[in-house]
Amino acid sequence: MSTLVHQRCFNHATREAVARCPACRRFFCRECVTEHDGRVMCSACLRQISRVPLLQRPAFAGALRMGQCVLGLLLVWFFFYLVGAALLAIPTSFHEGTLWRANWWES
Ligand SMILES: [Zn+2]
Ligand SMILES: [Zn+2]
Repeated sequence: MSTLVHQRCFNHATREAVARCPACRRFFCRECVTEHDGRVMCSACLRQISRVPLLQRPAFAGALRMGQCVLGLLLVWFFFYLVGAALLAIPTSFHEGTLWRANWWES
């Protein structure tokens, strides 16, 4: 860590380095590093990491799950809407007014 004191930031030549990025091994000042998953990284490496797994990002995965729920509900709603429309399309004469009789299936 003693070499860190004499290092300068990779982006700011006038600033003293406070951390070293584990990914690119460069030194950075306090402004240029951010913490990610308990590790201190430079913003360039952080951008590179967060760019790749879009589907694994918690926010994106949550939104995807929510979207799937909404889509499922819409599908169910549409299914029952179609069933209702089909039932409405059946003419009243189809029942011939016998549906409520007790033994209409035996006659
Ligand atoms: Zn880096
Ligand atoms: Zn800097």
